Amino acid sequence: MSATLQFGNGKSSTIQTGLYINGKFQPGAEGKTFAVVNPANGKEICQVSEASAKDVDAAVKVARETYDNKWGEKVSGRERGKMLIRLAELIEENADELAAIESLDNGKAFSIARSFDIPEAAANFRYYGGWADKVHGKTIEVVDSKFCYTRHEPIGVCGQIIPWNFPFLMMAWKIAPALATGNVVVLKTAEQTPLSALKFAELIEKAGVPPGVINIVQGFGPTAGAAIANHMDIDKVAFTGSTLVGRNILKAAASSNLKKTTLELGGKSPNIIMNDANIDDAVAWSCFGINFNHGQCCCAGSRVYVQAGIYDEFEKKLLAKYKSINVGDPFKQDTFQGPQVSQLQYDRIMAMIESGKQEGGKILTGGERHGKEGYFIEPTIFTGVNHDAKIAREEIFGPVLVLQKFEDEAELMKIANDSIYGLAAAVFSRDISKAIQTAHALKAGTVWVNCYNQLHPNVPFGGYKASGIGRELGEYALSNYTNIKAVHVNLSEPAP
Ligand code: ADP
Repeated sequence: MSATLQFGNGKSSTIQTGLYINGKFQPGAEGKTFAVVNPANGKEICQVSEASAKDVDAAVKVARETYDNKWGEKVSGRERGKMLIRLAELIEENADELAAIESLDNGKAFSIARSFDIPEAAANFRYYGGWADKVHGKTIEVVDSKFCYTRHEPIGVCGQIIPWNFPFLMMAWKIAPALATGNVVVLKTAEQTPLSALKFAELIEKAGVPPGVINIVQGFGPTAGAAIANHMDIDKVAFTGSTLVGRNILKAAASSNLKKTTLELGGKSPNIIMNDANIDDAVAWSCFGINFNHGQCCCAGSRVYVQAGIYDEFEKKLLAKYKSINVGDPFKQDTFQGPQVSQLQYDRIMAMIESGKQEGGKILTGGERHGKEGYFIEPTIFTGVNHDAKIAREEIFGPVLVLQKFEDEAELMKIANDSIYGLAAAVFSRDISKAIQTAHALKAGTVWVNCYNQLHPNVPFGGYKASGIGRELGEYALSNYTNIKAVHVNLSEPAP
């Protein structure tokens, strides 16, 4: 089964549409397919095979077989590293096509997919390729009569469930550290955006990765996703998505085989602009902080707090900046914001905008559908919103900003930290001591000082509180994918 995709830049690409198990594309066990929709016009792009629990089971069996007989510690870190670096190169060689698929499927601007999502994914594979032969234990001195050491062993079969906001990049964040540490994976893509991973699957064999090491299935959460979370022979599950589903994954892991679980979940990140900030820079970063990827970032800076002394000027300049955001066809070169990913997301965001109005918020700009077809929403700013209002507390996952004024820094810190979430935060100030003290007081896994939405493969990312468990990226992510074994060796300890 294959489909030819037509892109808005006049080019096209043919992809395989089956489930990628044991190095082969194949139909689902129940023979079902589902439609993938172009969010820019609401029309079907193609049909892809749908994975059921049976297919997850088949993929897990293959993965286990592969892990036990052909992978894990049987392949050296050096060899695994080479494969990951080759994958990075292949991604780069196919970057135009991958970016076009991503743009068509997700709705993000082609220019952004081409300059950010795809190269960053390649950078992730290269970065973890570098780690593959550098993951090792320690020797630990105990007493003269004994010698102890640790081994960082792979966990085994890893189930990975990813979202639709950065389909290709989230796949890279998941697969690269798992392979670097010698694991095998069964990855489920989001039902809204399975296409770029299917193109990636074609590169796996070319990179020399043995069949069965990376298995990719597309399907729905309550069926294929739940089958991963509940599976008795999956040793670890890594999930990125909503906090609601994250709780279900953790429950399923607990009530099945207590598989190791890492979660990267929602956020409602505060972005604090102090009186002494460089206003023009803060305006530009704040606009980028909420609107990048159409607000569909778990770390989106959706609560902007501006100190009273500069509030009026900030608001005026932010409004002007908003007028320059290009919303439209993802394949147009100057587009910054494309459509939201789906009708469901569009409806959810419009309902949140409505709730903001009901709760007395004033719309400074936006608040409406953009255009006549597809799931486009105008970049929206609310002012005059009470801290207890739904739009000030709940994740919206769209281009909707709540802009608030504050006077006192100490009072503001209480409000900034008064959230169930703790994924990210930012502070803008020219006073470096104040900025750093604020960064340390914010309860968040990432704090940006005088910038926003900065991510690097070697810097950890993850949440405090209900924003998640564990860290992705960097050296820290390696520990998600290894079991530590302590070995005690008796040198001269007398028998008891
Ligand atoms: P959203 O609501 O933004 O679509 P989700 O958290 O529902 O975000 O989806 C993220 C990923 O989790 C997707 O791959 C989806 O299929 C999957 N998913 C959804 N529900 C479940 C579930 N009950 N068990 C496992 N995975 C799920």
